[in-house]
Amino acid sequence: MEMTRNANIHYISPQIFAEHNVSAQGFTTRHEGVSRAPYNSLNLGMNNFDSPHNVQGNRSLLARTFGTTVEKFVMVSQCHGTDILVIDEPNPDYAHFQKLGCDGIITNQPEVMIAVGVADCLPLLLLDPVKRVVAALHAGWKGTAGNIAAKGVESLVKIFGSSKSDILAACGPAIGACCYEVDEPVRAGFANSGVEWSDCATDAGAGKWRLNLAAANQLQLMGAGIPQQNIEVSAECVCCKHDWFFSYRRDGGETGRQVGFIMLKP
Ligand SMILES: [Zn+2]
Repeated sequence: MEMTRNANIHYISPQIFAEHNVSAQGFTTRHEGVSRAPYNSLNLGMNNFDSPHNVQGNRSLLARTFGTTVEKFVMVSQCHGTDILVIDEPNPDYAHFQKLGCDGIITNQPEVMIAVGVADCLPLLLLDPVKRVVAALHAGWKGTAGNIAAKGVESLVKIFGSSKSDILAACGPAIGACCYEVDEPVRAGFANSGVEWSDCATDAGAGKWRLNLAAANQLQLMGAGIPQQNIEVSAECVCCKHDWFFSYRRDGGETGRQVGFIMLKP
């Protein structure tokens, strides 16, 4: 996954989707927005004390950059669960979506930019280039413990008839194992996650572990039937890379949100 700059913004571009040319997608950085510290500058999340006017301006910049409008930029009220919003008809009530308590969005509608906001949690994007369906999923430790990755895959299969061998996945920049120390409630929460704790966490002593969210989500995708060669994983740690990313843990909670976004082309 490499850093790209188009006319307006820097973003991380997953290569695995690019060759199909049916979608535009990426993972934003904190650059080129209008928000002031500590939200500087491309803050795309409303769940903080940044000016809503500035956030809307940033969302508009992102939408315009990829050829759509801010009215068709969809985020939901993320709550660390595993419920997924499905948008499968044209001209829906966009304003209603942002009030829904969900942690994933799936759509087969072109020019609708779906996004999940993160600042440590892992943004996960799915594309089925054959059925032309995309998904954006929010996988923090709770979403990962609930295996939202597999839920997203199963939704594509059940609702849109996707074949698992066609589904491509990109795990975006998240907090890395280098910076993500967790304790017993997190370990216990992974009991039904579909992955072995020892395969995604290392013992840090004194009842602490270092959790690798990227490894956990990659294993869950493979467990759900996605071939390994269909999965691309970012190596960036958002907590280490202060100049590129927001990190809730590093910044003491008051920070902005980058997004994983994806949109089907017309
Ligand atoms: Zn780190």
